[in-house]
Amino acid sequence: MQKRWIIVPIVVLAAVGGLWQISKAKCFQLVGDVVCRVETQRKIVALSFDDGPTPEGVDAILPILAKYDASATFFLIGSRMERFPGSAEKLLAAGHELGNHSYTHQRNLLKPQSFYETEVNRTQALLQTAGSDTRWFRPPFGKRLIGLPLAVERADLLTITWDVEEQPEKFDGNPRAFASDIIARVRPGSIILMHPMYRHNQTARDALPLVLQGLQERGYEVVSVSRLLDAAPD
Ligand SMILES: [Zn+2]
Repeated sequence: MQKRWIIVPIVVLAAVGGLWQISKAKCFQLVGDVVCRVETQRKIVALSFDDGPTPEGVDAILPILAKYDASATFFLIGSRMERFPGSAEKLLAAGHELGNHSYTHQRNLLKPQSFYETEVNRTQALLQTAGSDTRWFRPPFGKRLIGLPLAVERADLLTITWDVEEQPEKFDGNPRAFASDIIARVRPGSIILMHPMYRHNQTARDALPLVLQGLQERGYEVVSVSRLLDAAPD
């Protein structure tokens, strides 16, 4: 009897720990499909930007992408789209793709189902109004268990994560090292994640041209998520 009192909390802790790991897994989720990269021999990678839009971020990033003839997918937060009207349209007009990054950018765990549905559908409606018919959803912080993926599936969207993420905590203030670190981890079919929208992320903005230049020197084509998925073999 005594043993059981020890075993029960251990089992509960292990289960909670397991669910925590699953909730942040990049290439696996409990409901619906997730894409974290594609299998291809071709030197092609997708570039994705999360959060925002912010007018300063959009104005800083667009000329850099244009200079390197690169296209990207911008995962936007619905409440930010409302705060900065016209930003999403500007990204589309420049030939880039949009994705859904929830409405309020919270950790989508332990919430009622109606919360997840609102987070997904409200932003999807805003994206459609801006002129985007995107099918891509990215969970804030990559976090999801069952409720959020269910809402994503019901909205006929697909979860897109990433396999190469910037490391600002290691390389803040050093755009060259920041960029080299990303380039070193990229392989054919990768999906890169960067956060250049916010004012305090100057290092990411300064690193962006170096990332694009480095990838081009290595023969990579830098495209949106849709174009990467089109390039993948069936
Ligand atoms: Zn985010």
